[in-house]
Amino acid sequence: LGRRINAAVSDLTRSPNLDEKAFDGMVKEICSALIEADVNVKLVAGLRKSIRNTVSFKDLAPGVNKKRLIQKTVFDELVKLVDPHAEPFKPKKGKSNVIMFVGLQGAGKTTTCTKLARWYAARGFKACLVCADTFRAGAFDQLKQNATKAKIPYFGSLTQTDPVAVAREGVEKFKKERFEIIIVDTSGRHRQEQDLFDEMVQIQQAVRPDQTIMVMDGSIGQAAEQQSRAFKEAADFGAIIITKTDGAAAGGGAISAVAATHTPIVFIGTGEHMLDLERFAPQPFVSKLLGMGDMAGLVEHVQSLKLDQKDTMKHIAEGVFTVRDLRDQLSNIMKMGPLSKMAGMIPGLSNMMGGMDDEEGSTKLRRMIYICDSMTDKELDSDGKVFVSQPSRITRIARGSGTSVREVEDLLTQHKMMANMAKKMKGGVQNMQRAQGAM
Ligand code: GDP
Ligand code: MG
Repeated sequence: LGRRINAAVSDLTRSPNLDEKAFDGMVKEICSALIEADVNVKLVAGLRKSIRNTVSFKDLAPGVNKKRLIQKTVFDELVKLVDPHAEPFKPKKGKSNVIMFVGLQGAGKTTTCTKLARWYAARGFKACLVCADTFRAGAFDQLKQNATKAKIPYFGSLTQTDPVAVAREGVEKFKKERFEIIIVDTSGRHRQEQDLFDEMVQIQQAVRPDQTIMVMDGSIGQAAEQQSRAFKEAADFGAIIITKTDGAAAGGGAISAVAATHTPIVFIGTGEHMLDLERFAPQPFVSKLLGMGDMAGLVEHVQSLKLDQKDTMKHIAEGVFTVRDLRDQLSNIMKMGPLSKMAGMIPGLSNMMGGMDDEEGSTKLRRMIYICDSMTDKELDSDGKVFVSQPSRITRIARGSGTSVREVEDLLTQHKMMANMAKKMKGGVQNMQRAQGAM
């Protein structure tokens, strides 16, 4: 997708007789790329209007960095779509917070409820699970296995067939035991059916959740809009979790779900493993949707500067990218300047630095380097997973570097994005262009 958009913009900016018609053609090409990435058709039409309103043809006069302007507009508009500016529910310690999952069968509810319970448990909450899926044979076993692995207490029944009764009993039991996060997993059906919706509403009335979360398969595509509307109407969920974002799907469906229901995405599932759950952030998500920045260009530039790149290049060829590699890259960038140009080549970094001038940008970079320098060697040479399994490291580093937890988390997100890219590029720099094309 990113490649197609880049190509459309480049065609335009290279075109010798830049006219209104060529500009229209470019907007059209961008929009059809977005529709192909499963962004809802109506949303794309709106986006098209926004682009036309924001970037007028006369703005594209010589001297304006047209490419940047257009790309930034597309990026900003997509971020706007995926960010409903609604605050998601924040559970309180010392109180029983009931969270109920809804969604179609196979969406990833059972997998994700354990991930989420573990996520809260790792942050000091007393968390547990209730299996209210009495519809699918084996549902309770699946939850039991996951929960046992994650050491999360659970409740369910092999004999009780009424999901409402099981849900009520489980939630009451755990409330008495003063659990702070009680997650209720429910059944799904293959299709949206009235009895599924009826069951959802009955469970809701029985357990009175503080938050209902819709779990949606990230590869759902154009069906996302209609499906999320139907669930919103029946179960009025207050948050969305998108699963399987590690898959090949373009992810445009997620944007449609948010836009259709004005409900924030709170987490994304990034794999089948228990730790594969990330807090959702609009900017990195859109950045990923649109492509990967200009990594190939950056590497070329860096090579031409003859900076010390040996280890990183070797790592990338092996499909590895450590936190230390990120630190080395950051300090190289400081040497390379001008920052605004360089940052634009690194996926995610330009968004993080969006709107900053070069001075603010270098302050930000310097803080990122401080963060790395507060890490132990083990952390620096890791693939970043140690921070997921032991989040207390993040607090320690924030304190040690005089930055914030948020900034450390941003840096780790940035690192993960680059590590994923390195994985795709395994086999050498020559493959980079290909890897970019595949996104
Ligand atoms: P449910 O029917 O909604 O409870 O869905 P499940 O939790 O049983 O998940 C269905 C399948 O999707 C399982 O094979 C999961 O391992 C898989 N799955 C769930 N979340 C993710 C994810 O984020 N990434 C990947 N790759 N697979 C996932
Ligand atoms: Mg299930």
